[in-house]
Amino acid sequence: MVAEKCNFKENMVTRIVDLRSDTVTKPTEAMRAAMASAEVDDDVLGNDPTALRLETEMAKTMGKEAALFVPSGTMGNLICVLTHCDVRGSEVILGDNSHIYIFENGGIATIGGVHPRPVKNNDDGTIDIDLIEAAIRDPMGELFYPTTKLICLENSHANSGGRCLSVEYTDRVGKVAKKHGLKLHIDGARIFNASVALGVPVDRLVQAADSVSVCLSKGIGAPVGSVIVGSKNFIAKARRLRKTLGGGMRQIGILCAAALVALQENVGKLESDHKKARLLADGLNEIKGLKVDVCSVETNMIFIDIEEGSWTTAEMICKYMEERGILLMQESPSRMRVVLHHQISATDVQYALSCFQQAVKGVQNEIGI
Ligand SMILES: *Cc1c(COP(=O)(O)O)cnc(C)c1O
Repeated sequence: MVAEKCNFKENMVTRIVDLRSDTVTKPTEAMRAAMASAEVDDDVLGNDPTALRLETEMAKTMGKEAALFVPSGTMGNLICVLTHCDVRGSEVILGDNSHIYIFENGGIATIGGVHPRPVKNNDDGTIDIDLIEAAIRDPMGELFYPTTKLICLENSHANSGGRCLSVEYTDRVGKVAKKHGLKLHIDGARIFNASVALGVPVDRLVQAADSVSVCLSKGIGAPVGSVIVGSKNFIAKARRLRKTLGGGMRQIGILCAAALVALQENVGKLESDHKKARLLADGLNEIKGLKVDVCSVETNMIFIDIEEGSWTTAEMICKYMEERGILLMQESPSRMRVVLHHQISATDVQYALSCFQQAVKGVQNEIGI
């Protein structure tokens, strides 16, 4: 395919390529139609048929007994952690680069009174098993220690660039949890991306987990919502906590209808998102001045670093790109993030690539190098 020219004037009004996140997708016509005609009722009273349909389908897909729609991934993780850690003084072992630890306002501590025990995340999103075991509190010291109750993993691992935890690794962590009488929660905001990238059925991938939180509004492309899954007993407790947190939302069938369409239509598109991400990563890595660890691009996410000694900054590149309708996320003065999703076409990728090339050159021209 011929790369499209990156032309400011031509593209200014007509074209937006939004690569900030996979949360930015717009509901498709099919989703809007499903929302408009969704059968609904009061979900807090437990009667919304479309919500029940989504929850039944998600429980089955994830290989768990039950599921619960929640407003966001953040609330999903909070509810799961709090449901597992229902005793004051509970402690949770989690990655020091995990979403729960970094990006969720410390809610497990501030709202739940749960003590986090961060353990080093490796570059691939894993936590060394021996470090996990070493972090488990000795019950003999309970006069002093908090009580370890839960281990959290994240798959795919967002801050590692969307890398996947293998089923073997997940099973091993599950074994450690069992051995010590702990529960295992997986923050599976993008678990479908991981499942597709690994070629492992999603229910198998999370088999060792007692609970999983899955975002519908990320790569799957639904406008709003997450689902948590676990045992019937777990979900019954979780439902009560959802109400406590203000997440009981009445006629949610409207949202669940869109999610059902998203599951049906978009899971199958993730593989193509990953291919486009690799294509874009390869192209970006060839641009002098930019650096991408191509091997780490396993799913739909790319971190782009500005090479050391370069005159450009992430801010300047982001601004240049934005003027041409391409939206990126700036991670640091020298790092940007790009996320692919089903509404980014192969042509968009070529256009973005051509603009990146121009951006690196253009910024240098602007500052007179
Ligand atoms: C986005 C995300 C969440 C939180 O989801 P929200 O719906 O934005 O609250 C949790 N974990 C990971 C890994 C995520 O990427």
